[in-house]
Amino acid sequence: MDLIKAKNLIFDYIRRDKDGEVDGVTRAVNNVNLSVKQGDFIAILGHNGSGKSTFAKHINSILHPTEGTIYVDGKDTRDEQYLWDIRQTAGMVFQNPDNQIIGTVVEEDVGFGPENMGVPTKEIWERVYESLNIVGMYEYRKKSPNKLSGGQKQRVSIAGVLAMHPKCIILDEPTAMLDPVGRKEVIRAVRALNDVEKITVILITHYMEEAIYADRIYVMDKGSIVLEGEPHEVFEQVDRLEQLSLSVPEATKMAHELRRKGVPLKEGIISEDELVSELMKIL
Ligand code: ADP
Ligand code: MG
Repeated sequence: MDLIKAKNLIFDYIRRDKDGEVDGVTRAVNNVNLSVKQGDFIAILGHNGSGKSTFAKHINSILHPTEGTIYVDGKDTRDEQYLWDIRQTAGMVFQNPDNQIIGTVVEEDVGFGPENMGVPTKEIWERVYESLNIVGMYEYRKKSPNKLSGGQKQRVSIAGVLAMHPKCIILDEPTAMLDPVGRKEVIRAVRALNDVEKITVILITHYMEEAIYADRIYVMDKGSIVLEGEPHEVFEQVDRLEQLSLSVPEATKMAHELRRKGVPLKEGIISEDELVSELMKIL
């Protein structure tokens, strides 16, 4: 069974004037079909305004479809009785860690989720330490979140979601506010969630390099999925990606240029290491 399944999903934002009359409609998600199996790591790419966040908010029942259906662990997200089940199955990490951290001490913050769920105290602490270890923040457990860097704070937010033992974690542009070091730390933690902990991961980003490790990539534009496939398949389409305003990794661009100049390189090179080793084979 698919852990997440969207069928012909459509979502319209409706604007109303001061009298409550409909003033305009924005179709933010337009007929999306997508399924994610337990243990998958998928990435959703797309420039600003392409509908990524609107789609993500359907997965943990913050928004409900205008048309179509989305199932999480077999449950229709429209069904009110499953709201808390769904929120526990699919945890969300947002862009700005400052809006997610509420505790004054790291370990307390990470414990809030399981505490609210009514987990027994002894188990809360086990979960807190386990989650902090997974994201590499155990040593900082007694610190104040205010003293941490952006990347560290974001890893604490991830630990907070992890402590609720979700089957799936959705990260909506978790690195958008971070410097390059912070971005690397967070992406490393996200990969560990999937590789080591076998948690289903949905990573939303507009940095293509961050999607390299996904099993499958979906590219959104104007609310629709316009391109999908394994990273190599998607990254081959350099011209198409640039049309979609996505910044293609430097190594991919360079390989594309070299190929255009007649160098017999394979399609879909996504990292510098790969480019170098392919060039070595030729030279
Ligand atoms: P992304 O996350 O890819 O940047 P969004 O899902 O935030 O895209 O936005 C998709 C579209 O919906 C955009 O045209 C955006 O302007 C519009 N939109 C997003 N949030 C709202 C809202 N609360 N009210 C009205 N329109 C919105
Ligand atoms: Mg967004």
